[in-house]
Order: sequence, then structure tokens, then C-alpha cells
Amino acid sequence: MFRIGLGFDNHRLARGRPLVLGGISIPSDVGEEAHSDGDVLLHALCDALYGAAGQGDIGEHFPDSDPRWKGQSSDHFLREACAAVSGAGFRLVNVDATVFLEHVKLSPHKKAIAESIRRLARPFWELEEDSVNIKAKTCERCDAVGRGEAVGAQVAVLLERRENGGRGESP
Ligand code: MG
Repeated sequence: MFRIGLGFDNHRLARGRPLVLGGISIPSDVGEEAHSDGDVLLHALCDALYGAAGQGDIGEHFPDSDPRWKGQSSDHFLREACAAVSGAGFRLVNVDATVFLEHVKLSPHKKAIAESIRRLARPFWELEEDSVNIKAKTCERCDAVGRGEAVGAQVAVLLERRENGGRGESP
């Protein structure tokens, strides 16, 4: 059985903050302003995973009112989401993501971002190189992203539920 999930996130950009996307820092003079490290791509990926598995959203699992998550690396959120989804018997088939960002050209970083996501998911699933796809768009100087004030991400995932339910391979 296949399940689809969608995730979206955005964060305001501020000077003196690291720009973290997919678990790696991208050279930039501004970065996400957030309770955690503000990695919009991993936050949207977590939401897509939770959504596909019918497990709510990242805010339910990691409320930003909880001081434990202040400054937390989003790697932690992704690992927890992968563990929950994998534990419910799902295999991640593929990830398709779009990052919305005006001021930094992401083309030179897309491969590294995809590899970082594959590496973070590896304790749970071995993803083929072409199973994590990163796209980048500007917003043509419209809206907050277009004015360079924010960064956003949309992620779609496909999960397959293993027939035997557990972590083993399908028969
Ligand atoms: Mg977020």
C-alpha cells in the first residue's frame, strides 16, 4: 500500500544566523530565525513523513513552546520522524522537494543537500541517489521570499507500507 505526504514550512531570515537546509549549512549572510535551527527543508520533510503515515504534524511532536527544542538541530526531528514512520511499518520510497529562496543560488548545493538527507535517513532506509530530488526556485521578487525576508520549502514523499508490518522486507 502506498501513502503520499505533503509538507510545507517557511521561516523569516535574519542576519547572523546560519542558513541550514537539509541538515547542512549553506554560505549566506542571512539564515533562518527560529526556535530550533530553522531548517525549513527538514521541517517540511518531517511534516510530509508524519502526514503520509497519518501521524499528525511536527508541531504536535515538537511544540515550539517546549524549551527542550530551543536551538535543537533539526537532524533530531528528522530522525524521530523516520523512527516513528519506520516503526509503523513504512518504507520511504522517494522525496521530492522545492526550496523557495531569493538571494542564494542553490544549484551548486542541491547535490550536497540531497546527499545529506539520504545520509540522515540511512539508519532507517537506504535511498537511491535519484530518490531524493531537490529543486530550487526564487519567487521573482514577489512576497516575503521574493523580498529576501524569508525562505520556504515544500516536500512530497511517498511511503510504502510493508505487508508484514515490521522493519523487515516485504515477502
Ligand atoms: Mg519550521
